[in-house]
Parts: sequence; C-alpha cells; structure tokens
Amino acid sequence: GGSTGSPGGVLTVDLGALARNHRRLAERAGGAAVAGVVKADAYGLGVAAVAPALHAAGCRTFFVAHLAEALRLRPALPGEAEIFVLNGLLPGDEPLCAASGFRPVLNSGEQLDAWGALGRALGRALPAAIQVDSGMSRLGLAPGEVAGLVGDPSRLDGIETVLVMSHLACADEPDHPANAAQLAAFEALAAGLPAARRSLANSAGLFLGDRFRFDLARPGIALYGGAPTSGRPNPMEPVVRLDARVIQVREVPAGAGIGYGFAAVAERPMRLATLSVGYADGWLRASGNRGAAFFRGRRLPITGRVSMDSIIVEAGDAPLGAGVLVELIGPDATLDAAAAAAGTISYEILTALGHRYERRYV
Ligand code: PLP
Repeated sequence: GGSTGSPGGVLTVDLGALARNHRRLAERAGGAAVAGVVKADAYGLGVAAVAPALHAAGCRTFFVAHLAEALRLRPALPGEAEIFVLNGLLPGDEPLCAASGFRPVLNSGEQLDAWGALGRALGRALPAAIQVDSGMSRLGLAPGEVAGLVGDPSRLDGIETVLVMSHLACADEPDHPANAAQLAAFEALAAGLPAARRSLANSAGLFLGDRFRFDLARPGIALYGGAPTSGRPNPMEPVVRLDARVIQVREVPAGAGIGYGFAAVAERPMRLATLSVGYADGWLRASGNRGAAFFRGRRLPITGRVSMDSIIVEAGDAPLGAGVLVELIGPDATLDAAAAAAGTISYEILTALGHRYERRYV
C-alpha cells in the first residue's frame, strides 16, 4: 500500500554484498586497483546508490559508456573520483567532457585528434585513456594506428595518457586461445605508448591469471553478483533480489488454455497464481514455459507466455494469496539461473529490469 500504491514487484539491492564483492575482487587483483564499471545505470541497479557504495568500499575509478552517463554519475561521487567514458566522445562533446573533468577513452584516430586539438587550444594536456584493439574488432586503435602514433608522438601533444586499455572478447571461456593472443597483442601495443597505467581485465579477465591483472581491473557483472565465468561455480555474493506480487490465485480444470496463444494447456486440474511482473518489467518473454518463481524454497514453474504486466505460475498447494511476494531472483532462483531460463546472460537480465519496481537498498 502506501501513498504511491503497491508496485508489481520489489527489487532489492544489497549494497553490503556489493562492497564485499569489490573487496573480494581487490584481493584477487593482488596489487592492481579495481575500478567499478557502472554504465547503464550500474547494470540497471541504480548508479546513484551503487557508485557511492563502491566508493565507500575503496573504489576510486569508475567507467560509464556515454558522456551523458558521466554527467549523471558526477553528483553521486566525491570530486576526486576518476570517471572514464568508455565509448569516448562524439564530435562536439569534447569541451563539455573536459570542462566536467571526465576522462574519455580515445578509441579512434578521430577521437584522439579531437581531444589533442582541444588540449592544445586550452594550453594544457587533457587526461584520457587510449584504447588499443588487441583483437576484438569493436573499439580502439588498430595495430597500424598504434604504430603510427609511436612513430609520431607529437600527435599526443595536448593529451595526458593516464591509461592504456583494451577489452577481451572471450574472457569467460578460459580455454579460448584468443585470451593468450589478446594478452600478447596488448602487451606489445601498450609497450610503445606512454601511460602510467594499463588495464585489460573485465570480471572474467580477473580469473584468467595474474598476467591479465595489470594496474587496473574493470569488473562490472561480478560486482553485481553475476558469475564472472559462465558455467563455473560463482565465487561472488548475490547482490540482487527480485520479488513479484501475487495478483490472483485460481483453479482451472484439465484442458484449460493458459495465457496468450494457449502456449500451455492444463494437463490436469491445476492451481495457478498470476504474478504482477511481465516483460515490461524486463521479465523476458523468452522465459515463458521455461523459468520459475520460488516461494519458501518451492519451485513454481512459469506456465505459458509472459505477458506485458504479468506471468502465470503453477502454484501447487503453496499458501499464496493476493499481495504475497514470490521470489524471481534470490537465494532459490539465482541471477544466472534466471538468465539461463531466458536463454540469455545475467547482464541482459539486470539491464532489462526497468523502473517499475519498488527499489530497496539494504
Ligand atoms: N570493460 C569494458 C570496455 C566493457 O565494455 C565492460 C562491459 O561490458 C567491462 C569492462 C565490464 O565487463 P564485465 O561486466 O564483464 O566485468
């Protein structure tokens, strides 16, 4: 109840677990610093709460994707926190980025030249990261461009290169040969560039071995409790709990069609509960007839398709009634299991959650 009405579900974010995950990754990182990747509203969990909690846990470097995200993050952090913009800058955004004190990740010759030109115009070297493409073919200077830069260092005038970084394409497949190849390529490419720090590892990269640590690791998903390496035991503490409210409980006879398209049909008389979370809440339609909710440890299979605002589960004789909360993500239904049931990855589950939930930060 309350003055704003009951929302369909409750998203609980355990900031203590988040802080402990940061500490756990810092132990794993040895002497390397551990940044927080808080793009996409901290993977959907709410950057205004997540970023200060990470800072309190000792995190001093933050990564977002866009300049607009950096501007939203800024008031959540003390002034000395370092904020990198992973996608770099679109043409024309350089002055705002510099005036705001953010550090762009320069991913292309164009981004690099625009940032250097601004620095020269302002008469000071502007801090930035340079990303090199060690093999993923997504963002970063290609090996030929890096060689050009090494041959003509004056192109870096106006830029203070505080970090050289790259990103791993296959880090969550520990035996993939691309990992060693990208490591070797990164070491060679970074060797020619003047930078105080180097960074290669995301969450999964931190579990590939000491040589992947460098000076700064950039985990996202592991901070939020997702398994860094899919298919391996998850060493992280769960951070997210998602509960949906029961709207209605009903009994249906054998043969009843259940939900849109009658994608499920009752094989026997069934007791069904309709829950007030649907695909508009990021409960992905792909989990129709596949995923499950839990109530006091009991599995309640999702029956039929996911609707926009509701799902139907088989309730058995669970003591459910209107308003009761049932678990969609939590101790019984892990984030990674929910992702597997929807045929996707934990990242997509979290970033799809949306803003219809009551949010509790504990
Ligand atoms: N570094 C870069 C460049 C990224 O794009 C991301 C996110 O995809 C991360 C680090 C964090 O990755 P993860 O969430 O797998 O730890």
